[in-house]
Amino acid sequence: MSRPTSPTSPTALDVLVIGAGMGGLSAALAFQRQGHRVTVIERVEAIRPVGAAISLWPNGVKVMHRLGLGETIEHLSGNMTRMRYLTHTGEPLTDFSLAPLFDEVGQRACPIARAALQQTLFDAVGAEHIQLGRRCLDYAQDDEGVTAHFEDGGRQRADLLVIADGTHSRLRSKLVGHPVERQYVGYVNWNVRVSADEALAPAASWDQYVGDAKRVSLMPMGTGGNAAGTQEYYCFFDVPLPVGTPNDASRYRAELREHFAGWAAPVHALIERFDPDRMARVEIHDIPPLDSLTAPRVALLGDAAHGMAPDLGQGGCQAMEDAWVLARAVQDALEDGAAPAAAIATALDHYDAARVDRVGDIVSRARKRAAMIHGRDPVQTHAWYDELAHEDGDEILAGLRKTIVGGPLG
Ligand code: FAD
Repeated sequence: MSRPTSPTSPTALDVLVIGAGMGGLSAALAFQRQGHRVTVIERVEAIRPVGAAISLWPNGVKVMHRLGLGETIEHLSGNMTRMRYLTHTGEPLTDFSLAPLFDEVGQRACPIARAALQQTLFDAVGAEHIQLGRRCLDYAQDDEGVTAHFEDGGRQRADLLVIADGTHSRLRSKLVGHPVERQYVGYVNWNVRVSADEALAPAASWDQYVGDAKRVSLMPMGTGGNAAGTQEYYCFFDVPLPVGTPNDASRYRAELREHFAGWAAPVHALIERFDPDRMARVEIHDIPPLDSLTAPRVALLGDAAHGMAPDLGQGGCQAMEDAWVLARAVQDALEDGAAPAAAIATALDHYDAARVDRVGDIVSRARKRAAMIHGRDPVQTHAWYDELAHEDGDEILAGLRKTIVGGPLG
């Protein structure tokens, strides 16, 4: 067995990761866990995640468990046991337990503060392996490896380069061989954390109010390790709007009052309660599915590879799957006795074969779901509202299950 056991092992590789988001850090950790020498390059000086929280579905949490972070993440996250849809005026459409899904797939979902997830991953990788305030501009491959070039004039050699520089990736176009334009999905999302309160939503329920192609969501997200130890909800508002509408934090509350005039009392209580300074406002974009995510010494990973609409809650989960599949493929090839260069070639082929269709399908499904929720075709959106009124949970759970069990850890 040529499995690397320490960074000094003859088969330990030098892995360079560009981007210290949840994708890059998951990849770094996955390679470290196999004993490779990993360096992460991050352009910002201090990492402050944009956005309140995310829902890690069981496929993402399973990867975190394999990387040794599952217990921490379960501890920091919210305990979401039910899902409800309500009309905009608050009449329940459907209300069901998520337990059958979590029992079947062997893992619950973990809605978690972005800051807590980011810090957990950062600490696990280790600050000494992460170079902040360094921007990668370019890379060059040769038979022996790959060289990354930085804005500060520096360069670094590696056996394998992992590009995880996010949805705005500059390096993606070079790998793909043509410019990849982000596409506006058609709606704006405002998201924020608020203290949990049963006047807003039941403590363990993911509540979604839908109507007029808009959506308001409240999800239990645990404490996220906040100093006071208070439970919080991850809340968001979706409104279909033209691209480029003004983004002015001092207007958030007034805008949302207007967009949601006449909606249910908890929606209004939420609008009066959130702190606009803690709110993120995002125009939702995705990128078209790519045909390949690799070059001879390079893998594209996370949003750089498959920026998607958040309507399936899968972008971060897919980045984690990417990380697991890529590192595992390298390990398998090394264990089969391949020399490092051959192992990388085999692993990158496997990564492409395992990931291109999987993530392409999810990008496409997320776009379709975004269109349905946000009224691209109003007839379809109204048909969905009608379906929800007759839904006992089975259809929704089947859709979630399909996405989860299609992942590398089942
Ligand atoms: P990023 O987090 O964008 O990280 C990229 C990093 O690369 C950044 O730190 C950046 O500074 C750095 N960087 C960029 N360029 C360079 C460079 N040239 N050199 C060095 N560093 C560079 N996903 C879920 O799984 N569940 C959810 O519930 C969910 N909800 C979402 C809700 C919203 C509103 C949105 C917008 C997204 C949501 N997502 C969700 C998706 C999820 O946030 C992303 O998929 C995830 O953050 C992608 O991580 P990443 O590491 O690939 O990219």
